[in-house]
Amino acid sequence: MKISDIQTEIKEHPLLTQLFVRVIQEDGLSGIGECWWGISPGAEGGKQLPANSQVLPMISTIDNILKPLLIGEDARQIEARFQQMVHYAYRYGIEGILSCAISGIDLALWDLAGKRLQVPVIELLGGQAKEGVKAYASLPPFRDSERIRQETERAMACGFQGIKLHEHNPDMAGLVRDVAGPEMAIMFDVNGHFKLPEAIDVAEALMTHGVFWFEEPIWPMRDHDAMARLKEETGITIAAGENEFSQEGFYQLMQCGAADYIMPEITKIGGLTAGKKLTPLFELFNLPLSPHSFRSGPALYANIHWALSTENSDWLEIPWLPEGYSFPGGVSIPELRDGQVTLPDGIGLGLSIT
Ligand SMILES: [Mg+2]
Repeated sequence: MKISDIQTEIKEHPLLTQLFVRVIQEDGLSGIGECWWGISPGAEGGKQLPANSQVLPMISTIDNILKPLLIGEDARQIEARFQQMVHYAYRYGIEGILSCAISGIDLALWDLAGKRLQVPVIELLGGQAKEGVKAYASLPPFRDSERIRQETERAMACGFQGIKLHEHNPDMAGLVRDVAGPEMAIMFDVNGHFKLPEAIDVAEALMTHGVFWFEEPIWPMRDHDAMARLKEETGITIAAGENEFSQEGFYQLMQCGAADYIMPEITKIGGLTAGKKLTPLFELFNLPLSPHSFRSGPALYANIHWALSTENSDWLEIPWLPEGYSFPGGVSIPELRDGQVTLPDGIGLGLSIT
């Protein structure tokens, strides 16, 4: 069953543009994936760039490098397609944009395989290892206590038993604790904002609020030794991994002993095929897979299939949009059962995108 076309589609959004990738086989059946492509202009206080300009290199990589490679190849041989892309991309530098582009195509191939065989993707991964996985609402950066209070209350009303903040001020964790009570798991993500001495001060403040984990505490995020020193100094629980791309990177992260929760981003690492190759590491190091998700669509749904097929999964990130916004791909966040995400209905990834 040959691949006849690969198409990209920008789903524009003021906060969270998505890039969908559709792989079409010769009989017209298609699967859908998505790529991580960057952060919104100005999201880090930087320059305002033209809208969606950061998506264009990803589209060009797919259209000009990967698509010509794959047209006419067998869509059923996902591992072979993955290896074909990796071997070709290796000469450009396999991490970064190329790995994100490969991820989008790979996710679409898995969705397509499920649709072709009329089964959910999880059956192709070996079936369910568990019925559900705990989920937390991942709030975007607000830097505004009133909005954090409002969105925390909205997330609680949806049944979330975990709230993640993307703030720098540890007092915001105290605010969530006051609003949500003693049982709420609070995750605090600074996206590598601090150097070690500041991170130690922040960790100590977070611990007074009973924060569940401190995520990507240190710049650069790959400074595993500094994370290990932070852990040794403060004893705080650390989550990291969304900026690792390779098996080697994850091996080193797990081996250094700094991170308690490992957070691969499936639209960066190479999709489900790459995820499958990481799964044994979670068993080897006895560490939890806590998938990183910041968009609702093929990536989130692929993460659900991966997490539910993995015994060692614990805590799934659910992207949370402020009141008045919806996800550009039209995929809402899944309903929770007792604070857990369960398997979506349907074949493939279970998305109803046509
Ligand atoms: Mg994060």
